[in-house]
Amino acid sequence: MTWLDVPKDSAFGVANLPYGVFSHAGGEPRVGVRIGDRVLDLAAALGDPVFAAPALNGFLAQGRRRWTEVRARITALLTDERARPVVEPALVPLAEVRSHLPFTVGDYVDFYASEHHASNIGRMFRPGSEPLTPNWKHLPIGYHGRSGTIVVSGTPVPRPQGQRKAPDDPAPTFGPSRMLDIEAEVGFVVGVGSSLGRPVSVRGFCDHVFGVCLVNDWSARDLQSWEYVPLGPFLAKSFATSVSPWVVPLDALDRARVAPPARDPEPLPYLADADDWGLDLAMEVRLNGHPVSRPPYSTMYWTPAQMLAHMTVNGASIRTGDLYASGTVSGPERDQRGSLIELSWGGREPLTLPDGSTRAFLEDGDEVGVSATAPGPDGTLIGFGEVTGRIVPVDGAVRRTG
Ligand code: MN
Repeated sequence: MTWLDVPKDSAFGVANLPYGVFSHAGGEPRVGVRIGDRVLDLAAALGDPVFAAPALNGFLAQGRRRWTEVRARITALLTDERARPVVEPALVPLAEVRSHLPFTVGDYVDFYASEHHASNIGRMFRPGSEPLTPNWKHLPIGYHGRSGTIVVSGTPVPRPQGQRKAPDDPAPTFGPSRMLDIEAEVGFVVGVGSSLGRPVSVRGFCDHVFGVCLVNDWSARDLQSWEYVPLGPFLAKSFATSVSPWVVPLDALDRARVAPPARDPEPLPYLADADDWGLDLAMEVRLNGHPVSRPPYSTMYWTPAQMLAHMTVNGASIRTGDLYASGTVSGPERDQRGSLIELSWGGREPLTLPDGSTRAFLEDGDEVGVSATAPGPDGTLIGFGEVTGRIVPVDGAVRRTG
């Protein structure tokens, strides 16, 4: 228990301690840990200059032993009341801080690890054929995304524009996307890199991956369906990807680990489940404040350890700050789907919001939030906070008509 006045049922108690980068009162961005509704300035509390930096990368590169040691030191400060004179001056109210992108993003990969999501998309995009492609249960499908447009929660998202052509249109047209969507996902942050030619095994996951955040992979479905054959997503995804401000360390997720769904068929040996790295995260998607979906992460077919093993099996190396995301998290039920294209079934069954308005896809001004919690020790909850973003119209000054 902490001596701080953090409620027992807080999802940001001492069992969590997620890391982020914040600035306060006009100061420079620096690393902090969230405790309750406050942020602990780590450079001030621990006297270590690695935390007086605008990104977590320096700390991430130090590796698992150091991550565990720092977590133990922070826990000691927050649970031993004798540390109060050191800790109290280093605490800042969360409401007074500005959150920044928590790490400088290296490479970015996005997977497609939900069987329910992949099946739903397959049914909509390829009616009459098998919903899953023949490779789907043999390897975690993914693509390399654009790391330079990863933004922290709260950053406005300009509506993308580009080419779109519905199957029956005679020719493509150009303009703002009319089918702007979300993808509620979970992201994995690489701490320690690897060497070229040396794949990371499934077992190497917790030596290389530091923690977990939430991701919204904004997607322009009309641009996507025209451009994606044969090389996959490109401009339909690269305009913006939002991440939550707090990275929950793997050390906080012991109680959240679950066995992934049964494998049929068994994957090749390099993808064999070594440890249970399914995660029991309860996610929620809100559109303009109204809950529209509750995707269960535990239903994901491929684990993050398998994703990492696959991503490096060809010898590709990883770097500190690399981010890979799970792909849209969708459960088996209708109200567990993590994208609007699934929730509205391709736009044919729009959602009705409490104000009476309907949505198949996002309108300008719409705000989307994705949040999650996981089970912690002794009945506590581990909070992931929220990743939010509001759609803003295409800037008239940059609008082109093709
Ligand atoms: Mn995605």
